[in-house]
Amino acid sequence: MRTKIRYYFHIFAPANSSNIVFMKEIRILDKKFREFLTEKAIQQRIEELARQMNNDLAEKEVVFLGILNGAFLFAADLFRRIDFPARISFVKLASYQGTSSSGLIKELIGWNEDIKNKTIVVVEDIVDTGNTLERIVDELVIRKAAEVRIAAMLYKPAAYTKDIALDYIGFEIPNDFVVGYGLDYDGFGRNLPSVYTLIK
Ligand code: 5GP
Repeated sequence: MRTKIRYYFHIFAPANSSNIVFMKEIRILDKKFREFLTEKAIQQRIEELARQMNNDLAEKEVVFLGILNGAFLFAADLFRRIDFPARISFVKLASYQGTSSSGLIKELIGWNEDIKNKTIVVVEDIVDTGNTLERIVDELVIRKAAEVRIAAMLYKPAAYTKDIALDYIGFEIPNDFVVGYGLDYDGFGRNLPSVYTLIK
């Protein structure tokens, strides 16, 4: 039987709070999540990142490289704010199932852009351990990119194990499982415009 999914939104005020703060909660399959980054905050931050990139990169030959599936919304929202001529392409790999990293990196597919001697901006939804990022950067070096810059919508510093510098970070977040804005829980939640964190 096909699994039915519904996002239930609850607005509630936490107990013992003199100021009334409204927070959204949702349920996806067997788990509950609380709103953590609003749509407005995300869009404002992307505006700032795009402004920075428009200043830094306008004179270069740039290819934005979105990492599927998770980065599709971030890549689209960022790229529409880029005001110099640039290309965009997407590659896909997966290292994650359920709510904890397996550490296994699967195959990289979808390279159809010539990246030799170009400035590549890797567009990631979230950088956790950095395993995925390292794999992509290694591949870009092999393919002789002139320069590699990293843009990550979300970054978990407590989980990061690599030395690769991140050039454009949307938000540094705690080492908790999040969904929304491209990120999924078992395939669901990617269409949520905000980011939600798992309620343990
Ligand atoms: P890394 O290779 O850095 O450990 O993990 C990167 C990938 O793991 C991301 O592109 C994303 O697909 C997945 N991932 C890491 N943390 C989370 C998380 O909190 N929520 C979701 N939904 N996926 C995550």
